[in-house]
Amino acid sequence: MELNGQWNAADSMDPRKYQCAHCDVLVGPDTGYFCNESLYEWAYIYICPNCNRPTYFEFDNQIPSPRYGNEVEYLPEEIEKVYKEIRDCMSHQLFTAAVLLARKLLMNIAVDSGAKEGDNFVSYVNFLEDEGIIPKNGRDWVDAIRQAGNIATHKIPSIDKELAEKIVTFLEILLRIKYEMPGRMAKN
Ligand SMILES: [Zn+2]
Repeated sequence: MELNGQWNAADSMDPRKYQCAHCDVLVGPDTGYFCNESLYEWAYIYICPNCNRPTYFEFDNQIPSPRYGNEVEYLPEEIEKVYKEIRDCMSHQLFTAAVLLARKLLMNIAVDSGAKEGDNFVSYVNFLEDEGIIPKNGRDWVDAIRQAGNIATHKIPSIDKELAEKIVTFLEILLRIKYEMPGRMAKN
């Protein structure tokens, strides 16, 4: 939704460069609000010049923090929604949630590519491999995902940051191969 209108009595401030978590754009606004609580100010609110939404800074801590990873174009609406949610989980250190959703999205990609529904996770990964959607040199990534345990066992896998980052990066590459590249080709 677009947020139009003017923020009331916003001050001009030193410009600050950051990636806006609301709209994903790298911005450098110079208006907003500060809290003159102590001898020097360390709490600021900047207004994004692209989407007009506020971001709070406490020293260098940005709230909401920028979305992890990169935007992928030409995604079907449902897939885009889940991918955004995964990136939000990552930027809030919710690594297990991110990976569980990433695995769900992998299944969606497989079904979207012709795999039959209701199979187990490993069979979906195999399907994506057989279809060439997972690139040949993507073996390490596939193994990382397999390591992340199997939801079908009803065990919640324990996921650390490094593994979650691996899996989400892999997912981004897959989304580019499956949706963005064909989308760009069709456009040209
Ligand atoms: Zn913005």
